[in-house]
Amino acid sequence: MAERIHSYRTRAVILRRRNYSDADRILTVFTPGFGKRMLIAKGSRKTTSRKAGHLELFNHVSLLVAQARSWDIITESVTVESFLKLRGDLNSISRAAYVCELVDAFTAEDDEYEAVWELLLLGLRNLDGGPGGVAEADLFLRWFELQLLRLMGFQPELFVCLGCGEGLQPVENFLHLNAGGVFCPQCGRTMQGAEPVNVSTLKILRHIARNQWDALNGLQLTHASAMAVESVLQRYLVTILEHRLKSTDFIHRLRQSPAGSKKIGDAGAHVAFRGSSHSPPDPEDSFKEVD
Ligand SMILES: [Zn+2]
Repeated sequence: MAERIHSYRTRAVILRRRNYSDADRILTVFTPGFGKRMLIAKGSRKTTSRKAGHLELFNHVSLLVAQARSWDIITESVTVESFLKLRGDLNSISRAAYVCELVDAFTAEDDEYEAVWELLLLGLRNLDGGPGGVAEADLFLRWFELQLLRLMGFQPELFVCLGCGEGLQPVENFLHLNAGGVFCPQCGRTMQGAEPVNVSTLKILRHIARNQWDALNGLQLTHASAMAVESVLQRYLVTILEHRLKSTDFIHRLRQSPAGSKKIGDAGAHVAFRGSSHSPPDPEDSFKEVD
């Protein structure tokens, strides 16, 4: 007697692929309704497979999936967005890989995270869309990291002291990665594991954390500031995940290649905006806005 096969349709982004047997692949996908899920694409390694082209990394696809005892089986796939521009640029590919690896690392299988799905699509579309340079793409990654941390309940505390609860002042404060945020000088100065964080780095972190991407687009940081902010967030992510993300090495290797177009400004934390007809948000205001 034929067993009844239950199928379901879902949108998905391909986060990861690995070969399985001579013909098949196991895909880690992220979906709006089921969160992360592992699926098998039978026959997708064969060059004649009609499915294969749709199941590239980063693709946004519509899938028909048959339930099975181990991995559910992809029986039909149609590309919704293939992010072709992104695929033509190594810098964008490395950042898309990073975005996908972050989502993979922070989410569990079969837990619904619709907001993360929206963020992931926004991330891939942004990396696909912009004429923006490497510095803008890096700023976008910092924004993406802070948004993902917030959605997953790991937002670092950047506004009030983790010790006394007082609003942080625009002075040198103390960052504690394991504690998940910042302490005021009184609480943090002698605390083990705390490190000084300068005013500008904290201002920029707060500004990125509290704004939507549209409001940040056009913000230019000096190389020194961008590196300081990146260092804080990278180390915070490693503290939470307890492992380094592989695609960060890829990004760093590309950065060392001569084609990298870094924007290098004065040392310190000068923040400038490029050509904009309306007044851009001012990260210097971020301390004033704290109540
Ligand atoms: Zn304090």
